[in-house]
Amino acid sequence: MSRLEIVRGIGSRGDTRTRVRTVSALATARVMARTTGAFYVMGGVLGLLLTAIAPGTEGNRALVGCAAGVAVLLGVSLLIWGPRLPHSVHHGYVALATVLVTIAVHWFPNTVGAIGLSAFYAFIACDAAIFFAWQWVAAHVTFAVLLCLWVVPSRELPWWSGVISAGVAVGVGIVVGILTRMASDADIDMLTGLLNRRGFDRALSNAIAHAARTGQGLALVLVDLDRFQKINDHLGHRAGDAVLQRVGDTWSKVLAPDQQLARYGGDAFALLLPNTTEQAAILLTEQLRAAVTTGCSAGVTSWQPGESGSLLVSRADVGLYRAKQAGRNRTVLESSRQLPLAVELREAIDKGALDVHYQPIVSLSEDGAGQAVGVEALLRWSSSAQPDVTTEGLIRVAEEYDLIADLDELVLRRACADAARLQETFAQLDLTLNVNVSGLELAESDYADRVSGILNDTGWPADQLVLEVTESELAAESQTAIGNLSTLRERGVRIAIDDFGTGYSSLSRLATIPSDILKVDQSFVAAIRSDSPAPPLLGVIAALSRSLDLQVIAEGVETEYQAAVLTELGFALAQGYHYSDSHPVADLINDLNDQRGLVGAGVPEREFSSNGWIPMDASPELGAFGE
Ligand code: C2E
Ligand code: MG
Ligand code: MG
Repeated sequence: MSRLEIVRGIGSRGDTRTRVRTVSALATARVMARTTGAFYVMGGVLGLLLTAIAPGTEGNRALVGCAAGVAVLLGVSLLIWGPRLPHSVHHGYVALATVLVTIAVHWFPNTVGAIGLSAFYAFIACDAAIFFAWQWVAAHVTFAVLLCLWVVPSRELPWWSGVISAGVAVGVGIVVGILTRMASDADIDMLTGLLNRRGFDRALSNAIAHAARTGQGLALVLVDLDRFQKINDHLGHRAGDAVLQRVGDTWSKVLAPDQQLARYGGDAFALLLPNTTEQAAILLTEQLRAAVTTGCSAGVTSWQPGESGSLLVSRADVGLYRAKQAGRNRTVLESSRQLPLAVELREAIDKGALDVHYQPIVSLSEDGAGQAVGVEALLRWSSSAQPDVTTEGLIRVAEEYDLIADLDELVLRRACADAARLQETFAQLDLTLNVNVSGLELAESDYADRVSGILNDTGWPADQLVLEVTESELAAESQTAIGNLSTLRERGVRIAIDDFGTGYSSLSRLATIPSDILKVDQSFVAAIRSDSPAPPLLGVIAALSRSLDLQVIAEGVETEYQAAVLTELGFALAQGYHYSDSHPVADLINDLNDQRGLVGAGVPEREFSSNGWIPMDASPELGAFGE
């Protein structure tokens, strides 16, 4: 089956044009130029030889010799400049070949040789069938057939003698066209003639199966051209394509036949090295980088028994990423011995294997002191590679390796679903759900819509969601981030500024960041000690938030004394180990079920963990969760 492709190319003045064509994957500029050039040179040399040695006095020997000489020159020009010529020029070469063959057949010194030369029409059909779309194949073959049907009888042969050569040309065109389209089957990159991503993935699974069978090593390298986008932007896509072709050509020459190079996408190349150690792969990669003038960064890794191809590629990708982060133009080994945190985290996100725990936010006001009014969702996940990594450390890795959007989406979705379940089961709760969001995500234009989509899917009401943005991370000057926050607020979501007081320009930023709540950083609360006066800034923040009509939450409350001071200063809400640590949703449910029993039994006020969830005057007739 032929493929329908939209090929983006650049016109002669740099304009982008789009053409739709049905061609075989061999129709790259390089393969086309080389094949047609070789046809020309071979036909020309044969023509020259025959003209020199063939007996006979008919026709015009000099003219045939000239035609053959022109063919050789055209062939050489194609071999030299062909890869850089626009696709349309190749049509001219093929049509010209038809004319030259016709000249040779018409004026060859003897009739038998002339009939032999008419076999070249089949070559022309073959060339067109490999490189052009079907409608062009038809045009070129028709042109050749018409000239053939005219020129063969012009040698004073019966009219039907031309039909044989014409018939062969048509047959060859059709068969070769069908076979090349079937054989190429999309595994080849059209530009460089290397394997494309699909071809590489196929080669990778074969190589892994072979390595698993034989126990031989297998290394994988991902290479990315540094600042390739600049070449495209400043010199045009044609120049970018030429760089990719040159790099592919140069590296192909350095590699052994069993080492497979692929264009993995854009300006990224992938290299599969069977029976190669990590150290040997690094040496070879350095050799490849030295062979081209374009700077490039590379990630090297090796396969471990039992690993999937995608894991191997992700690990090489982490190496490549680190090479770029470290300043580009270098090779970084991402050793397979330790599963890097980012790869492990990526897998966990893909599998949804992360936990979300909830820490209560409680009221400090007199009438409902100690009463939970909301929960903050906090990511929990332990890595086997780095078991002691903190949640903050994980978030940093996720931000560094571009995993944060997926991770936060997972946490938000899980948290909304858990909260919706809690609320449905214990209708009196009326909880607010606080979820942390990275400043990086907010800069993505579709962020507000993604949040709304999750709220829709999970049924959690927008006005019971608070998104906590860490003040220092938020690019207040980013219009997209500010726009997202404003849109979300218009839709009912509230915004909290997390760790307030830790950034540089806290107060000036309050004016630019659309917000409803301040979460005062725990370092201020930790400074409240019975042996020293309360930090004056806390009182200022409380007064400021009142005048700006912002709610204020104190984080990290660990003692009764801190809670009392904060209440005195006018803080309405607090969060911290003094009330509760964070827990899985199942524990909250158990807590609530226990509390339902206690409230139902008329047990008087207790510590938060047993009764803090439900107002003391609430009906004991709670939902039937777990029953
Ligand atoms: P945060 O949003 O300020 O969360 C409060 C942190 O303080 C949590 O740490 C919590 O366990 C801890 N904490 C709570 N009460 C106390 C206390 O009384 N004393 C002390 N010393 N600490 C207390 P955790 O869970 O390690 O989270 C650290 C930070 O990681 C969070 O700070 C938040 O910025 C970020 N984070 C957590 N989960 C997510 C998430 O899903 N997405 C994003 N983007 N960031 C998250
Ligand atoms: Mg927070
Ligand atoms: Mg905080």
